[in-house]
Amino acid sequence: MFRAPKQSIEFTGVPDADALLNDLTAHPHAFVLACVMDRQIKAEKAWIIPYRISEKVGGFSMDALTALRESDVELLMSQPEPLHRFVKKMSNYFRSAVQRIAEEYGGDAARIWADKPASAEVVYRFLRFDGVGPKIASMAANILARDFKIAFAEHSCIDISADTHVRRVLGRLGLCSTDATVEQVIYKAKALHPTFPGILDFPSWEIGRTWCKARAPECDKCYMRLLCPTASLNK
Ligand code: SF4
Repeated sequence: MFRAPKQSIEFTGVPDADALLNDLTAHPHAFVLACVMDRQIKAEKAWIIPYRISEKVGGFSMDALTALRESDVELLMSQPEPLHRFVKKMSNYFRSAVQRIAEEYGGDAARIWADKPASAEVVYRFLRFDGVGPKIASMAANILARDFKIAFAEHSCIDISADTHVRRVLGRLGLCSTDATVEQVIYKAKALHPTFPGILDFPSWEIGRTWCKARAPECDKCYMRLLCPTASLNK
């Protein structure tokens, strides 16, 4: 996985928005701000917010963003249509994230992951942003390592994001109980793959979304069918 060439990641399905989010060289803060916005709405809707704001501001430079006052951000997030379900709260998080990037990282968000840090350090740095919890912090570190191929010293503190697909698939595969809690799934992933628990995230999610649906799983098409104890039950 780490040797494979980096490919452009489709975060939103909107080419210009994805280009901004993939541009870790000139706009690394776009990726960070999208992570901060990713809560309580669909991911695609959250990840497009930096691009929607860039359209209104006429660019997405840190200089332009740091010049915005709290009321400016709230206006950008709410007019003409709300960009998030919780405009006021997320406007505050957006502005405070911009300030943190400016003050702690000299305006260069790439310093969050520069110099081959330990995974725990990267997760910790994301957790310092207002509104970011362990799930999003781990997801951000996972995308950086897995998709952007950013070098980390190790990956042991990048946890699985135990969403509904992941929990269902790990349960049906017999890797944890079918009623496992989020915390149980996170620790089971640590037990299964201690050096990089989060690596189990994407395949589990993909299997869940593609074949292992909540109702009528398509076991005959799933590449885990020969190993899965639940597959025979669905024949
Ligand atoms: S074989 Fe069937 S039950 Fe098992 S993971 Fe695949 S789709 Fe799910």
